Amino acid sequence: MDKYIDLAEDNILKTYNRFPVVFKKGEDVYLYDNKDKKYLDFLSGIGVIGLGYSNKKFTDSIKEQVENLLHTSNLFYTEEIGTAASKIIEVSKMSKVFFTNSGAEAIEGALKVAKKFAYEKNGKDDYEIIAFKNSFHGRTIGALSVTGNDSYREPFYPLLPGVKFAEINNISSVKELINTKTAAIIIEPIQGEGGLTVADDDFLKELESICNEKNILLILDEIQCGVGRTGSFYRYLEIGIKPDIVTTAKAIGNGIPVGAFLLNEKAAKDSLKPGDHGTTYGGNPLAGKAISTVIDIFKEDEILKKVKSTSLYFEEKLDELVNKYDFILEKKGIGLMRGLKLSSDKKVGDIVKNCLNNGLVIGTAEGNVLRFLPPLIIDNNNIDEMIGKLEKSF
Ligand SMILES: *Cc1c(COP(=O)(O)O)cnc(C)c1O
Repeated sequence: MDKYIDLAEDNILKTYNRFPVVFKKGEDVYLYDNKDKKYLDFLSGIGVIGLGYSNKKFTDSIKEQVENLLHTSNLFYTEEIGTAASKIIEVSKMSKVFFTNSGAEAIEGALKVAKKFAYEKNGKDDYEIIAFKNSFHGRTIGALSVTGNDSYREPFYPLLPGVKFAEINNISSVKELINTKTAAIIIEPIQGEGGLTVADDDFLKELESICNEKNILLILDEIQCGVGRTGSFYRYLEIGIKPDIVTTAKAIGNGIPVGAFLLNEKAAKDSLKPGDHGTTYGGNPLAGKAISTVIDIFKEDEILKKVKSTSLYFEEKLDELVNKYDFILEKKGIGLMRGLKLSSDKKVGDIVKNCLNNGLVIGTAEGNVLRFLPPLIIDNNNIDEMIGKLEKSF
């Protein structure tokens, strides 16, 4: 085996079954392991490295920040945090931001906003949250409480009280669960871990109007589907709905561990106040610089335009696979957030292993789905190369 695999297995708590690969270097859309084997990466660190590995503009900007100032705490202002905040507010069209270190922490903050908002409105009794079956919102206790996957949840009962699960794209399943105690509805516009199921535009619009009507907060978890993955900076901007709370992480840091929750004016005005929430690291100068630089590169390099065009080609190629192979049941997802659902006689785990042997990194999702989250900068040649390696792996 490998010395570093042994060191990890001997010392790291075993919560992951890792593949026996030690990555050493990344360049553009390729990864290299410590035996210099090259891999085409169509997972990008689970949707994180949107701008590609060793992106020159990003790396230069981060290097400059590392040499200048890493951390001060949130007791003070920095240029980077002010700049990052103004940029993410501009691009998200929300009203206020709170920076976190991860996706799960952004979800925790969003849940606290919902609870505080309800508390301000009606007193302590409004605490119920409607989430969705097959959803994924993270591994901390609050995030796990709204995650619709029993096998992740069960060992940790009792979780947050008052969380109920509806079915995605089934509006009556949501209406049945709403009562005077409902504080918020939380949904991923496209389910990531849960199997790349897309929430229909009309369904999300109905959720928006129900929430407005009943003064319930609508929380959109765009941690995986946001930041350009579907061809708009956030999915809700494309659909034309106005959430009360948005969570973002993964690609917004392009590899620097950052996240945020964003609030509209209503949610910001009547929720968290000084003393209600905090973080030591969240939004430090390095995080701020990473977020600003990602947003700058999106504009300068016209990333959204690129995603829209490569998405069309990617879709075409996936359709060809669906037609060609009987064991591929359907194509799922949108844009560069894609899945292929396989019949039960083909195990996605086996195919992912074959792909690694053939120099291709892809992922899996619930429901025997192969998951593709390539860097947003891929071109059509990369897609052809991926399809070739994938077919070989079948
Ligand atoms: C990854 C993910 C999270 C959790 O983010 P972490 O940074 O892993 O804590 C939450 N929601 C969605 C939709 C995700 O894909």
